[in-house]
Amino acid sequence: MRILSPQQLNWINGFAALGDAFHTRIEGSVLPQSKWLASSEITARHLGWSEDWRDWPGMLEAMSAGQPLKGSIPLASVYSGHQFGTWAGQLGDGRAMYLGEIETPHGSEELQLKGSGPTPYSRRGDGRAVLRSSVREFLCSEAMVGLGIPTTRVLALVSSPLSVWRETQESTAIVTRIAPSFIRFGHFEHFASIGDIGNLRTLADYTLRLKALNLGAFLGVDRLEDLSPNEQYLGFLKWMAHRYSQLISQWQGVGFCHGVMNTDNMSALALTIDYGPFQFMDAFDPNHICNHTDTQGRYAFKRQPQVAYWNLFCLGQAFMSLINDSEPIVQALEHFKVQFPLETEKVYLAKLGLGEKSKASHIKIQSADKAENTTQMLDSGVSLAEEILQIMATQGVDHTILWRTLSHAVKSLSQGNPSPWGPVRDLFIDGSRLEPWLSAYEHALHMGDLAQSAQTMLNTNPKFVLRNHLGEIAIGQAKQGDPSEIERLINLLSSPFDEHPGFESYADHPPAWAKSIEISCSS
Ligand code: AMP
Ligand code: MG
Repeated sequence: MRILSPQQLNWINGFAALGDAFHTRIEGSVLPQSKWLASSEITARHLGWSEDWRDWPGMLEAMSAGQPLKGSIPLASVYSGHQFGTWAGQLGDGRAMYLGEIETPHGSEELQLKGSGPTPYSRRGDGRAVLRSSVREFLCSEAMVGLGIPTTRVLALVSSPLSVWRETQESTAIVTRIAPSFIRFGHFEHFASIGDIGNLRTLADYTLRLKALNLGAFLGVDRLEDLSPNEQYLGFLKWMAHRYSQLISQWQGVGFCHGVMNTDNMSALALTIDYGPFQFMDAFDPNHICNHTDTQGRYAFKRQPQVAYWNLFCLGQAFMSLINDSEPIVQALEHFKVQFPLETEKVYLAKLGLGEKSKASHIKIQSADKAENTTQMLDSGVSLAEEILQIMATQGVDHTILWRTLSHAVKSLSQGNPSPWGPVRDLFIDGSRLEPWLSAYEHALHMGDLAQSAQTMLNTNPKFVLRNHLGEIAIGQAKQGDPSEIERLINLLSSPFDEHPGFESYADHPPAWAKSIEISCSS
């Protein structure tokens, strides 16, 4: 069924029904003189809404934190969390407003406004979000959907001349975010920390029944009730470890750094959530830190898997109050240690276009260090991936361009070109370590079907990612009231594996000024 008006929305509001301990009813504070700046047709279609939904009566006002739509129960939820490795105490939706939960053709979805004004959880904040960070959140959510990486979605972006102070005076905006649930690790940590075991249980029982989790299927039961409560909770923790191993390996595969993996920014549905100082890397550097505020590099690119694991233990700690036995909790979460390498292998085999067969083979590669004169065995796609990533890191090769160029070279090889590697060689200053790698890689490719390898690679290695400088250009134009660059980026990023002829410059190396972009937590 296609929804044609706000009156046809079917509100469920499951989270709102959990009770007052979970949230506070709020009114929001309307963003003055707001205008539509962007919207996502993909999300509107996902919700089953008609194309003209922006013209529905009351819609602009509702998406600007004014008069809510009929059936919506605006509220702010309470959560706590660990920030940069230390306990931060109570946080909560300080600038987000839950509008409610609606039925859609893809299951129920919650609507949330970000930047909707102060709430009881704002602490000293103004409850607003600046245009700059809202454009970045909007574009990155669309980019993640395009890449097939689990994420909260965006529906609309409205902007306003209202200005707030960050490092400087900046104009404001509201993003409408969509997700089956916005529950975070921090929600569980909150109730555990205040010793409210009853509501911790209520939250757990609610969360693990969310349809989007499909926990029964993961645990191999028709009804969760066939399992004891402890089995359900432990199953949920294992599900979480499983999904995070998938999510983080996907992030690593596209060179995505989240930037603020605090436990209050970790979704209980293993969605990428809370886009702040994130970055898709340009030159590959495993030590890359995208968040200017993160002086210790806690959230550096290469540390993301460890941090996810650490965060899972914070969640496990909260569940201690329900399960009262640490051993099975540790066991459930240790699933991450087993699953993450498997997921990573899957990601890199696809990026390299290699099939299962290449895993069993032993590919010899001459060591780059001639003095050592050893022969290293590349015995799987993962070793090939590790080696090329190391070569890229030492020479600062662009992550996205390398993988895409490699994909085209393999396509050329599949079409009969006996020496397709020229464009790949051109990306490296020093070929001494690359040449033996290319020979080993070509050998591995010939064990499978070349055309299929090329196809897989072109559907795995995106041509377009949301590089910081592309976002900056779109933000600059949006500040002048011109949304056309945002629209262009939405178009490219929502189908990032397509060639999009005429838009080559968007897939090119970043300009020199991109290095000077500094993104902090300030948003
Ligand atoms: P974030 O770094 O965006 O994940 O936010 C961390 C916490 O600070 C959350 O509780 C937010 O709701 C809150 N917060 C961030 N910015 C603001 C703001 N401008 N006003 C009120 N609360 C904020
Ligand atoms: Mg947050």
